[in-house]
Amino acid sequence: MSYVDEVIDLIVKENPDEPEFHQAVKEVLESLRVVIEENEEQYRKDALLERLVNPERQLKFRVPWVDDNGQVQVNTGYRVQFNSAIGPYKGGLRFHPSVNVGIIKFLGFEQIFKNSLTGLPIGGGKGGSNFDPKGKSDREVMAFCQSFMTELCKYIGADTDVPAGDIGVGGREIGYLFGQYKRIQGLYEGVLTGKGLTFGGSLARTEATGYGLLYFTNAMLKANDIDIAGKTIAVSGAGNVAIYAIQKAQQLGGNPVTCSDSTGWIYDPEGIDVELLKEVKEVRRERLTAYAEARPSAEYHEGKGVWTVKCDIALPCATQNELQLEDAKALVANGVLAVAEGANMPTTIEATEYLQENGVLFAPGKASNAGGVATSALEMSQNSQRLSWTFEEVDSRLQTIMENIFANVDAAAKDYGYEKNYVVGANIAGFLKVVDAMNAQGIV
Ligand code: NDP
Repeated sequence: MSYVDEVIDLIVKENPDEPEFHQAVKEVLESLRVVIEENEEQYRKDALLERLVNPERQLKFRVPWVDDNGQVQVNTGYRVQFNSAIGPYKGGLRFHPSVNVGIIKFLGFEQIFKNSLTGLPIGGGKGGSNFDPKGKSDREVMAFCQSFMTELCKYIGADTDVPAGDIGVGGREIGYLFGQYKRIQGLYEGVLTGKGLTFGGSLARTEATGYGLLYFTNAMLKANDIDIAGKTIAVSGAGNVAIYAIQKAQQLGGNPVTCSDSTGWIYDPEGIDVELLKEVKEVRRERLTAYAEARPSAEYHEGKGVWTVKCDIALPCATQNELQLEDAKALVANGVLAVAEGANMPTTIEATEYLQENGVLFAPGKASNAGGVATSALEMSQNSQRLSWTFEEVDSRLQTIMENIFANVDAAAKDYGYEKNYVVGANIAGFLKVVDAMNAQGIV
């Protein structure tokens, strides 16, 4: 049996009931087969893959807090410190009822390679809780965050582990978590990213994932002699990633004509009015029907349908598994040239394969949405320097980072005979750097 298959079997056997983690390990190791088989004997002797797929440390803790009725509630907190070969653990905290150890491990494992691709010194980690902030009062959210941090603060720090936000953890939660860390440890340091601008946050962090997606997409298109100017772009989502992807696409001369939320979608052939979209979603926090009411050129449709629109470029920016095989077929039938993931895992494996088999350029989220974590790392740098860079400086560094990620992914794919397969390229480029650092640091 090959070393890759042995390790996949081992992971399934040793981590029962963690299907998302199995899936992530399989996806990554399968696409690394070509590299691993080249060095199989040495990697097996060093138990390299066993060390890669087992977190360095996995914390699970009780989070008691008191709700507004005086009732004590108990949630479970997690932090998986997966791999620190190239830097302090870095990765978000997710507060959502679906959170369990398998989901945190899947996200933490993927984060190792995404962070490696940024070229910045950040290792991989992820954390969270099954706490649901939806419907809770501010006081309840604060009570939960304070209790969560009272335990977590023993294991994190600006040079050891730097969490950030993720689903259910936005500016409000980061503020409460930071306040409690500072109070207990007596340290004013960059222990969390995604902070408010008045206490160490970075300009351009809000825009970073969407802008970064377009910097990556544009680099990929240019390398394939395609000009983004004048291209019709279908975008899903109407949240942080989608809004700033639409904005940057317009700045680059593209024409984004769709967006969506969890209830319906907009087709606006004259191009999405991004200021109106921001007003509806960021200020008024309304449904997309409000956009259609204010914009005569826009059509509102209930349900799903963004991928049925004829477009040259598709940018899934909403949620996982939102672009499925039938969507990929519709996109190909309409002549799509490129699909670039803004969300985490928005395209199913079958859809990805179908797009690639039909010659569509495909950018995996691990590479194309890495602008968010890259800018978080820039926030860490500014905190260490006790300085704040201008918006232009952060944005220009972000652009360089995303263009470098594309160049590295492209080169790795070519080197291993998978030219234009950016999924394989991203996994190989991310993996090789981590392995090099692990080898140099001995058996730890
Ligand atoms: P937001 O919560 O700001 O926005 C998500 C958007 O997707 C919302 O408009 C939401 O609709 C919509 N949506 C959610 N579920 C569905 C669904 N089932 N069908 C259609 N639309 C849906 O999240 P972000 O923009 O921050 O994140 C989007 C994705 O990008 C996630 O996968 C996230 O993990 C990933 N990501 C985000 C980064 C960041 O820096 N923000 C960094 C890297 C990855 P509604 O308004 O109705 O809730």
